Amino acid sequence: MQIRPAGACKRDRSSLQVILSLFPSISAMRVPVLAYHAVNIAGNDYATNDHVAFAADLRLIDDLGLRIVPLRWVVDQLLGLADRNLDRCVALTCDDGSAFDFHDLEHPEHGAQRSLFNAMRDFIAERGAQAQPDLHLTSFVIASPEARERMDRVCLAGKGWMGEDWWREASESGLMAIENHSWDHNHPCMESPGVDGLPRGSFLDVNNHTRAEAEIAAATRYINQHIAPRRTQIFCYPFSHVSEYLRSEYLPRFGDEHGMQAAMGDGAMPVTLQADRWNLPRYICGWHWKSPEALRAILR
Ligand SMILES: [Zn+2]
Repeated sequence: MQIRPAGACKRDRSSLQVILSLFPSISAMRVPVLAYHAVNIAGNDYATNDHVAFAADLRLIDDLGLRIVPLRWVVDQLLGLADRNLDRCVALTCDDGSAFDFHDLEHPEHGAQRSLFNAMRDFIAERGAQAQPDLHLTSFVIASPEARERMDRVCLAGKGWMGEDWWREASESGLMAIENHSWDHNHPCMESPGVDGLPRGSFLDVNNHTRAEAEIAAATRYINQHIAPRRTQIFCYPFSHVSEYLRSEYLPRFGDEHGMQAAMGDGAMPVTLQADRWNLPRYICGWHWKSPEALRAILR
């Protein structure tokens, strides 16, 4: 499929709106996008462990008769790049790109953890490939090897949980996409200041071109090298911090540089065709919902 550069779809969008007005079921696209953090392991029940929640939610979504589809499809629909039936669909994402996304790992306090990837394979083994034929998870990874090594050592258990060895296999699996969660998350554990005097700890300070290039375009280049010929085209704001400069200027205007087509925030509402492509809403597990009942209410 030909992908148009950012900013090129304005005219297409207005003609699309005319077409969509003739098909109310399409124009009513409402796709909740759910977000998980595989490093959220503080116990082994739904409320304390995103692996447990993720595995349970796959079954809940299926039981509710909803379809899981790739986030890419939601973005394609929004930008007028595709016209699929996304009625009663849900998209799944996970943030920070720890190895727990893909590999089963032993947590020092809470024992064996089934990866999000293998939770999907378990679901397929249990219910059959036809239960959710488009089952898919989009993983937003942190690009910089130095940043990941530092986070692993300073913030996690220093067990090599922030490697990139799984990116290619995941992106070629058909079940996962690897997308852009910035160069180093502007994480507080990084040496301060960052590029161009960037204070650490808030992504709201990524507020000029030099800082944006270092945090987003550099991440695109690194990730693309590791998943080629696939490319990252969706950004996810670290800390859900939606910098006004990024949302209204850098992302819309410098598509040739950063290659992004949409960006994910945390608006806690379904994505509709009226959504801001540079701040698409998501629901965050452990924040917007903490129980199957609460997720059921979101999805209803
Ligand atoms: Zn993050």
